[in-house]
Amino acid sequence: MNIKKILSNSTYQMVFALISGLIFGAILKLFSEFSYVDFILTNGILKLLGKGFISLIKMIVVPLVFVSIICGISSLGDSKKLGKIGLKTIALFVITTIAGVIISLSLSYIIKPGYGTHIITSQDFVPKSNSKNFFDIILDMVPSNPIKSMCHGNLLQVIIFSSFIGVSIGSLGKKAEILSNFFNVANECILKVVSMIMKVAPIGVFSLISNMVYSTGGESLLKVLKLILTVLLGLILQVFIVYFCFYKLGTRLSFFKFLKNFAKVAEIAFSTASSDASIPFEMQMMKNMGISEPIYRFILPLGATMNMTGTAIMQSACTVFISQFYGLPLSLNSLITIIATAVFASIGTAGVPGAGTIMLAMVVESVGLPVDGIAMIMGIDRILDMMRTPVNVLGDCVCTVLVAKSENLIDKEKYYKN
Ligand code: ASP
Repeated sequence: MNIKKILSNSTYQMVFALISGLIFGAILKLFSEFSYVDFILTNGILKLLGKGFISLIKMIVVPLVFVSIICGISSLGDSKKLGKIGLKTIALFVITTIAGVIISLSLSYIIKPGYGTHIITSQDFVPKSNSKNFFDIILDMVPSNPIKSMCHGNLLQVIIFSSFIGVSIGSLGKKAEILSNFFNVANECILKVVSMIMKVAPIGVFSLISNMVYSTGGESLLKVLKLILTVLLGLILQVFIVYFCFYKLGTRLSFFKFLKNFAKVAEIAFSTASSDASIPFEMQMMKNMGISEPIYRFILPLGATMNMTGTAIMQSACTVFISQFYGLPLSLNSLITIIATAVFASIGTAGVPGAGTIMLAMVVESVGLPVDGIAMIMGIDRILDMMRTPVNVLGDCVCTVLVAKSENLIDKEKYYKN
């Protein structure tokens, strides 16, 4: 690969931004006694670029969630027609994602990847009151004024509102075609804006990381490596414990045969970091394994939009990481909120590279942590994305086989032949 190609590759740009940000921050620290370093750089240009980037992310989160949830849910069509298979599929998506989030939260408290710095760099950070009980949290999800929910960035309320709109568009069918087309186009536009924001991400990451190292020292890097390990371990446990048990108990078929067939799909998911791009390969795999065509044609695209267990694992680990990094402990209610938000965020995450990190802002905000913390994660996001996307895709395939088996729609001979 020549140098021009390397420089235009977004993955390399992000890694370069991360490394150069670390180095630049360390250099700035050496000159910290000079007042212009603080005045012009850390509290000036770097703050402008870093905070500006965070504001761009915040700008797009509410429209992204609103439109993508409407599209995802309305694509299910008439909820009556959707019937048993749809409900079974969604229940499996939600249960396996909750299991993943619980594993990830537990690992984050055992490994403590961000623990030990106890700093608050965000001056405008106001901790959320934790005096709410479980019922208050549920009550808080019900939007009394959806416009207010959007203005205040209350994403759980936005999600509930958009779910209602999605169901109603889906159940109106042909009559609401115009609206459904409108939201599909709006969804594409918003994804385009996301990709524009991602173009300036290296600048944002560089600025935020330099400032982070300037104020915290080099410790942050070690912590980020520990975070990668935590997420990786969570993903491995999700595959070999949660999915393995569900698969074995639900189908009584060989999980290793399944994994062998999955290898090629995993390679695609890993290299593209996109569930959407993996759909054709998943379909081919399901066909080879003797799964009935209408089942996989329905479940796989649905999974690529609604089921992102790997992403939810990453988001919950990163949220706990940020709370540990800033020394802001999370209450039990906040942990319940993380589980709920990560499950909904996974429904609202598009199956394209980097979408999960944009949604991470929503999970982090839902428990009142400083969104600035995601800068550290942005720098390594491509690595995390390449790790979590195969698990997202694997989850879709596992759920497809489980539903097909429960409906007796698997050709067992074909399953063991290939
Ligand atoms: N890249 C992931 C996927 O396509 C989404 C994410 O960014 O988490 O499944």
